[in-house]
Amino acid sequence: MALKIYINGKLVDKEDAKISVFDHGLLYGDGVFEGIRAYNCLVFKLEAHIDRLYESAHTIMLSIPLTKQELIKAVISTLKANSFKDAYIRLVITRGVGDLGMDPRKCPKASVIIIADKIKLYPEQLYRDGLKIITVPTLRNPSETLNPQIKSLNYLNNIMAKIEAVNSGVEEAILLNSMGFVTECTGDNIFVVKNGELCTPPQYMGILRGVTRDSVLALARAAKIPAREQIMTRHEVFNADELFLTGTAAEIIPVVRVDGRVIGTGKPGTLTLKLMKAFHASTSKDGVKYSVR
Ligand code: PMP
Repeated sequence: MALKIYINGKLVDKEDAKISVFDHGLLYGDGVFEGIRAYNCLVFKLEAHIDRLYESAHTIMLSIPLTKQELIKAVISTLKANSFKDAYIRLVITRGVGDLGMDPRKCPKASVIIIADKIKLYPEQLYRDGLKIITVPTLRNPSETLNPQIKSLNYLNNIMAKIEAVNSGVEEAILLNSMGFVTECTGDNIFVVKNGELCTPPQYMGILRGVTRDSVLALARAAKIPAREQIMTRHEVFNADELFLTGTAAEIIPVVRVDGRVIGTGKPGTLTLKLMKAFHASTSKDGVKYSVR
């Protein structure tokens, strides 16, 4: 069965899922998106993702032509149309069709695209052994220029960092801000564990406030693990007892080496493993349920 894609109110086959070359999402990266996951017929933290999407859209003055409830319904119908119990969902809102100029006023209506597909994960072995990552020369966009909190279709900042990581033979990169403080990775937030305490860079350092990051902070607090937002340099990262990344696609993935420095014992740490377990348990709880035939 062909994959069914939602475009502007219609569910069409993948081959027919096309948008205009005049769409400003393509011409200018003018739009916003979300990456969401469904686990066993539950769209995990759907409302948090929808809220973040509307906030991103609000900041770039993009009017989403659906209410939040209508958009939630559209996500569910896309999952049902594909009979997906588990899926990775990409929700994309573009500025819509305009002319070749960048003026958003020329785009009367935003385009709404929902793609649900099988999840592609890091290989299982990386969850067991941990990732090796590096810091890259590309700095995270400063909030005062293009706020990382806007999950926009312009991901070149992240892609540049990803290219640098891949060129150096690793999968992920830490981006610093212009002051040399740690922000996040190309598509994941970062956490360090030191003396039993969990720390992650605060939002004002210039990061995307990840839904998974929020979940992990909440899980830690529920488990009475001290957790706080804390600015950090590479020194704190190198000398962490444990290190891990969080994101919707990656979930929680341990990191065992940064810029050639071994982190902790060089193996995924006990607190990391505990949180991975707690996170997996939570994916059957907090979200919007649906059914498939
Ligand atoms: N940072 C960036 C830059 C991201 O793109 C993402 C999501 N892919 C994250 C962090 C993690 O956010 P979430 O947990 O909401 O997926």
